Amino acid sequence: MNEEPAASERLSAIQSAMAAAAKRAKRDVDDITLIAISKTREAEDIEPLIAAGQRAFGENRVQEATAKWPALRERHSGLSLHFVGQLQSNKAADAVQLFDCIHSLDRSSLITPLANAMDKYDRRVPLFIQVNIGEEPQKAGCAIAELPTLLGEAAQADLPIAGLMAVPPLDREPAPYFALLAKVARDHGLSGLSMGMSGDFESAITIGATHIRVGTALFGARN
Ligand SMILES: *Cc1c(COP(=O)(O)O)cnc(C)c1O
Repeated sequence: MNEEPAASERLSAIQSAMAAAAKRAKRDVDDITLIAISKTREAEDIEPLIAAGQRAFGENRVQEATAKWPALRERHSGLSLHFVGQLQSNKAADAVQLFDCIHSLDRSSLITPLANAMDKYDRRVPLFIQVNIGEEPQKAGCAIAELPTLLGEAAQADLPIAGLMAVPPLDREPAPYFALLAKVARDHGLSGLSMGMSGDFESAITIGATHIRVGTALFGARN
C-alpha cells in the first residue's frame, strides 16, 4: 500500500498555504512564483507535478539539469527552469543556454562569462544576486558589504538583475534574515526576493518573497 500523498495533493496543499500566507500579508498570491526544486528527482517523479499544473522548476547542478530537462521540455510547453546551485564560471554558458533564470550570481568573476553567454545565445536571463545573509564562512553568496560593488559591475555589463536570493542559517529562526534580505533589496531598488524553502516559505511570503524554492514538501524527502 502506498500512503504517500500524490504529487497533485502535495502541490495543492502548498498552493493553499501560499494563498493563506499571501492573504495574511495582504499580498496577491499571483505575485509569488512557486519553484519546484527537482534536484535528484527522476523525470518520472517530475511528470506528475507537471500534469498537476506546476510549470516552474529548479535545479542545482547544470550537468544534471542538462541530462533531464531537454526531453521534458519537448513533451511539455510553458516550463520555466531556474538555476539555484553554486555556479562555476566554466558552466556559466551552459547555464545561460538552458535556464530561464539564475538565482546564484555571487561574485565578480561570473559577470564576464554570463554577459558573454547572453550575447552568444542572444538570451537575457534574469539573475538574482545570492547574498550570504547570515555571514556564514562556509556558505555561498556575496557579503552584504560587497553587494554595491557587485551590483555596479553587473550594471556596467548590462546584466538583467531581478533581485536578491538567500538561504538563511539552518539552525536559526529565518524571519529576521528574510527581513534583512528584504531591506537590503529595498535599499538597492530591487523588487525580486528569492527566499523561503519547504520549512519556511510561509514566513518568507509574509515578509515579501516573490520566488519560493520548495523541494521536499512537494517531492518527499531526498535520499
Ligand atoms: C535544495 C534547495 C532548496 C529546496 O529545499 P527543500 O528544503 O527541499 O525545500 C531550495 N533552495 C536551494 C538553493 C536548494 O539547494
